[in-house]
Amino acid sequence: MRIFNFSAGPAVLPEEVLKCAAAEMMDWHGSGMSVMEMSHRGREFTGIAEKAEADLRSLLGIPADYKVLFLQGGAIAEFAFVPLNLLGGRRSADYVNTGEWSKKAIKEARQYCAARVAASSEDRAFTYVPERAGWELDPNAAYVHVCTNETIGGVEFHFTPDTGNVPLVADMSSHFLSRPVEVSKYGVIYAGAQKNAGAAGLTLVIVRDDLLDRAAPITPSVFRWKEQAENESMVNTPPTWAIYVAGLVFEWLLAQGGLAATERRNIEKSALLYDFLDRSSLYRNPVDPVDRSRMNIPFRLQDAALDEAFLKGAKEHGLIQLKGHRSVGGMRASIYNAMPLAGVQALVDYMKEFERRHA
Ligand SMILES: *Cc1c(COP(=O)(O)O)cnc(C)c1O
Repeated sequence: MRIFNFSAGPAVLPEEVLKCAAAEMMDWHGSGMSVMEMSHRGREFTGIAEKAEADLRSLLGIPADYKVLFLQGGAIAEFAFVPLNLLGGRRSADYVNTGEWSKKAIKEARQYCAARVAASSEDRAFTYVPERAGWELDPNAAYVHVCTNETIGGVEFHFTPDTGNVPLVADMSSHFLSRPVEVSKYGVIYAGAQKNAGAAGLTLVIVRDDLLDRAAPITPSVFRWKEQAENESMVNTPPTWAIYVAGLVFEWLLAQGGLAATERRNIEKSALLYDFLDRSSLYRNPVDPVDRSRMNIPFRLQDAALDEAFLKGAKEHGLIQLKGHRSVGGMRASIYNAMPLAGVQALVDYMKEFERRHA
């Protein structure tokens, strides 16, 4: 039996995707091989990778002057490879600090450049996104970096910031493909696949062509976007299995009606949980309502002494991975695309019952 898995990542995948991967495990489309056993340069696998890229382009409406790269190293590797690929001789970049992942990105970037904090929500414990009007941007910065969904704090950008001529770079790891995105407003978008787009091991990087020529000479070739773009992401052996699984997720999203339909479902699912949290006297979400994440929903119980009983009871109800991140405590429900409405409803039903017993 499948349980409802609220893990922040690696996370729940669509059952249709898992069933398809299982059915094709021993013999992919009559090839007599598993995808895991294929040469990455063979006809079968290059077909899989090309279809995955084409489906991703169609889902996000990626313009022709952007490259799609299938890399490794995760979003944390990109925290270093964003400055290495984009500084182009400049000395500083602007960062917006909205939480734990922004902080990590800033810390890593400081190995390579002056990472200026152009705006921060640290004054109120990262419970909101600073309004664009208050950002202090440097027109000479190499780029402006944002984390558009803070997985730990549960804060999401519901607007696309205008940064003028300075390229906007976004870590979208935990809400990638949860809603439509105006790709043309960004210079670079990157995301680890294991939150909302597949299995661990794959990092997606979408980069505008004119930004490919800025890499520092010391950038390792497998992380040099230009070199990977010129080699179909095959400078090294790409994460073939993770690309295949991501391709199945892209097909699933297209069959579900694409990203506009996906966004509508995500609005419905997150509203179900937030409405309950806001009416409850036992549970509380601290984030400003306009900046709340539809993917990662942290909440606290009024009395932290109840946390353990809450988690134990949840597990007995088939609801797992609700413990908040170790850096902030409390609870967190991650409700990615593959979490069905029934899973959120089961969580709310359990929370109601727990509240009745402990009020
Ligand atoms: C999970 C996550 C990361 C780290 O991803 P890795 O795959 O571990 O490198 C970075 N940024 C955000 C927003 C995340 O959710």
